[in-house]
Amino acid sequence: MTEPQGRPDAEPGRIPEPWSPQSGQIGGWHPTPPPGAPRPYLYKPEPDGTQPPRGNNKQRWGRAGGGAAAGVGVAAKAGLLAKLVVALKASAVLVKFKVVLSMAVSVVAYAFIFGWWYAVGFVALIAVHELGHLVVLRALGVKVSAPTFIPFMGAFVSMKSKPKSVAHEAIGALAGPAVGTLGALATLELSNAFNSQLLRALAYTAFFINLFNLVPALPLDGGRVAGALHPALWIVGLAAAAVFAVLHPTPVLLIVLVIGGFELVRRWRTRKWIDAAYYAIAPATRVGIGIAYAAVAIVCIWGINIAYIPRH
Ligand SMILES: [Zn+2]
Repeated sequence: MTEPQGRPDAEPGRIPEPWSPQSGQIGGWHPTPPPGAPRPYLYKPEPDGTQPPRGNNKQRWGRAGGGAAAGVGVAAKAGLLAKLVVALKASAVLVKFKVVLSMAVSVVAYAFIFGWWYAVGFVALIAVHELGHLVVLRALGVKVSAPTFIPFMGAFVSMKSKPKSVAHEAIGALAGPAVGTLGALATLELSNAFNSQLLRALAYTAFFINLFNLVPALPLDGGRVAGALHPALWIVGLAAAAVFAVLHPTPVLLIVLVIGGFELVRRWRTRKWIDAAYYAIAPATRVGIGIAYAAVAIVCIWGINIAYIPRH
């Protein structure tokens, strides 16, 4: 079969990859609640004040100011330390330090809105999700960067080499929500053990974020899983993202719509005639990934219902 002339993808030397470094970011994204917006998954303190209080506006601003001061302090120390590390050419240390710094920046940013303990727990639960990607992708022989945290967006690890197949890509993608959901279950268990509403709210948020990442739209994890199930799911996922974006426009959803739209077109065009081998998948593998995907989603939906804290 010959490809039509003038098709840019068909030019010699310009063979598009179904996977590229640009599309290699695999992350735990979350819809960003605007400051002060009532969202079901926001931490709500108990009226009796047994939990870390959110405080009135004055107290909250005081805490936010403290957060900013701490942030400046951290940044100042960070600058010095980074120079020292570069001078010593300790690249391994630098990589770890960058991870810690990006996590710290995220914690400070979230603390402005949610308070310190919630912010720490929130970033830790995103880190658990990222760790799932990292460990499984590396086990599958994919080169993966350390996680980068972006305040109010989530976090991602970058794949520096292409997975062997769409099945490997899907397994690496599903590992994030799967391990992230285990983290949410552990948090829920701890919330019962310590009777902590804060931990309960964190568990709820973690279930929610891991479920959100299963929406089958690229570049979300669910979009990568969908590639191994049926590509038509990409259209379903993108349509779902479009509906969410109309109801609750957030930066993450807009990114999903733009990148997801481009990725959909690119992958759809290349999957049959350029990268058939990459997208080839054994039926049993497809079914296994489908069952695992559904199982994680069901646990997340169950968790969201169990961990829900009614408003008072
Ligand atoms: Zn992820």
